[in-house]
Formats: sequence, structure tokens, C-alpha cells
Amino acid sequence: MTERIPVSGPSITQKEIDYVTDAVTNAWYENANVYNNKFERAFSEYIGVKYAISLPSCTSAIHLSLLALGIGPGDEVIVPDITWIATAAPISYVGATPVFADIDQKSWCLSARSFEENITEKTKAVITVDLYGNMPDMDEIREIAGKYNIAVIEDAAEALGSEYKGRKAGSLGDTGVFSFHGSKTLTTGEGGMLVTDREDIYNRCLFLRDHGRKPSDKMFWNTEVGYKYKMSSMQAALGLAQLERVEDLVDRKREIYSWYADELGGDQHFLLNSEDSSVKNSYWMITVILDQEIGIEKEALIESLAKDRIDTRPFFYPLSSLPAYREINSPQKGIITNKVAYTISPLGINLPSGLNLNRDQVRYVCEKLKNVIKCR
Ligand SMILES: *Cc1c(COP(=O)(O)O)cnc(C)c1O
Repeated sequence: MTERIPVSGPSITQKEIDYVTDAVTNAWYENANVYNNKFERAFSEYIGVKYAISLPSCTSAIHLSLLALGIGPGDEVIVPDITWIATAAPISYVGATPVFADIDQKSWCLSARSFEENITEKTKAVITVDLYGNMPDMDEIREIAGKYNIAVIEDAAEALGSEYKGRKAGSLGDTGVFSFHGSKTLTTGEGGMLVTDREDIYNRCLFLRDHGRKPSDKMFWNTEVGYKYKMSSMQAALGLAQLERVEDLVDRKREIYSWYADELGGDQHFLLNSEDSSVKNSYWMITVILDQEIGIEKEALIESLAKDRIDTRPFFYPLSSLPAYREINSPQKGIITNKVAYTISPLGINLPSGLNLNRDQVRYVCEKLKNVIKCR
């Protein structure tokens, strides 16, 4: 096999090409918003929430969520230590402080216990993360948040199509946020969505994302300094076409997972993503944690697989270990308080999980993975 196997990538069909072609041809003048409106309506229906706002990214959706919840300087926001930095960066944008909590050993998502341990008088919100398609114990997290009057933002960027007790990922917080980056299960190239059942948050976000003016306001009469966070109609057309295929996209991810489980499931050297009985996992990234006994860390494994033209990614580094957070956090503290994050992170990699992957490629990847282990 000579072709490089990518770690992730979309599934694009004639439907997507047709919709984008129609948008670039017709979505102007009085039709400028047609695709955004259709995409938002279909998306809110799919997730099972009242409101959806299409945005340029998930990062902007988190930023707007924090602003709409009134979070600012002096406030603390709890996030799991293991996630993409986009979950936490907007906390700094609004002048608040991120607090990094540990993850759960099985789900790799926020540990409810660690969340509660990190609550202080300053805690205003928690951002849960549906990591690699899995979901944390949302019942317990919501109960704790309710007890301390803490808002919940659900970062479902990696979990479109996942479910917790029959409810769609993204529908379980005060707001839910999604990413449509090219690597994600549903893509618009770049893009994001904010969903909510709360009318106050919805209206506040519409106002903030359009330079501080309401859709019905006096023209060019801004009452606050806001932001410019919009998705183009070409992106919305692409998103709508993808959403009409969402069941196929999620089924495909689950099928790819089942191929890996067939190859690696019986081997105690490899721990794959879990799926609790309360969760439907949409397996955005098939991820393997190596048995510590093997004595190989993720960087070496990634390098070795790259020689076989297999593209992989490291399990996220704990945010508390990153230079970006040196000023507010010492990694020494993270090692002590977030033991699970620091134990698992060095041993994990994301395996090729792109929607164009086939069974033979998965077999090849697993063969090479087993070879690396054997050679130790
Ligand atoms: C991809 C991702 C984001 C960021 O999405 P953008 O659209 O790139 O802003 C946020 N959180 C998580 C968990 C992600 O995986």
C-alpha cells in the first residue's frame, strides 16, 4: 500500500456539490439567507432543541455562550484537562480563568467527582466535552451544576449524532456547540453552530454576533460593541447537504469503529473507545490507549506508523501541561490533581478515522500497529 492513510476527512457526494453550486448561483439578494435558515431549522430539529445559530466556528460558539451567560473577569470556568484548546481559549477571551479538572478513566470525558472538587465561589460555568464522540455522566454533572447554580456549556464539537439516554449530544446544557471543521463528522469546510432552548440566550447571541444590533433595530444604530460571527450561505448549503446524510455519516463512523474492534478488540495491549449503556458513541476518532507495560509512548508510535504512511494524532496533552497556560497553572499541580489525564495521555493515539476509509486499510493499520508492539 503506497497511498498515505489520512487520520480524518469528510464524505462529499454530488448532493453537496449541487447544493453549494445552487448557493453560489442563487443565494444572493432576497435569497441571501435561505440556506442559513434551512440549515439552522433542520439542525435544531435534528438535535431536538428550539434554537440554532450558524457561526464561523465552534470557537466562536463557545465565545458567544460565555458572553451570553455574562461570564467575565474574576469568574472561573471548569473544563476537562483533556480536550482541544478551543474548548478553553474563549474563557481567556472574556477575561475569566479556566480551571482544569480530571477526566473519567472509562469515558475519557470530564469526571463528575473532579468537577465538584474544583468548584469555588468564583465558578460560573462548566464546559463539558464529548471527547472523540463519547459523553460524560451528564445526569450527575447537571445535578452538581444545578446544586451550585453553575451554567453548563456542552462542547459537542466531536459528537454530532451521539446520544445520552436517548437525547442528542449538544442538547443537554444551557448551550450546546458544534464544529464543522474539515476533520469533523459533518463539515462545512470551517464552521460551527450554537444551539439552545433558552430564548434569552438565543436573542443575546444574535445581538452579539452581529456587531451589537438586533435584527429589527434601527439601521446602523449599534447599542454595544459586539462581534462579527457569521457563516456564509455557501457553507450553510454544504452543511444542509451533509445534515441530510447525517445518519449515513454516523453509521459509517460506527462501522469503522467496529472494524477496529474486530482487529484489536480481543488484545489486552489495546484499549479502544468505550461505549456505556447510557450512551450512543458516534466515534469521531477511533482512539487506542496502549498498555503501559509495552513501554512505548505516543510520539514514538506516531513516528513509527508515519513510516508506513499511516497518519495518526496524539491523544490530547493535558491543557494544564501546555506552555500556553504556564502563567495560570503549574503542570506539577496538574500531575497531582489530574492523575487520570496524565496517566492516559502519553499512551494514546487517534487512529485513521476518515469517512473515506475502507476495511482493507483498517486491516493494514492494525497489522502495522501490532508489529510495532511485537518489535519491542
Ligand atoms: C474541533 C473542536 C473545537 C473547535 O472547533 P472550531 O470549529 O475549529 O472552532 C472545539 N472543541 C472541540 C472538542 C473540538 O474537537
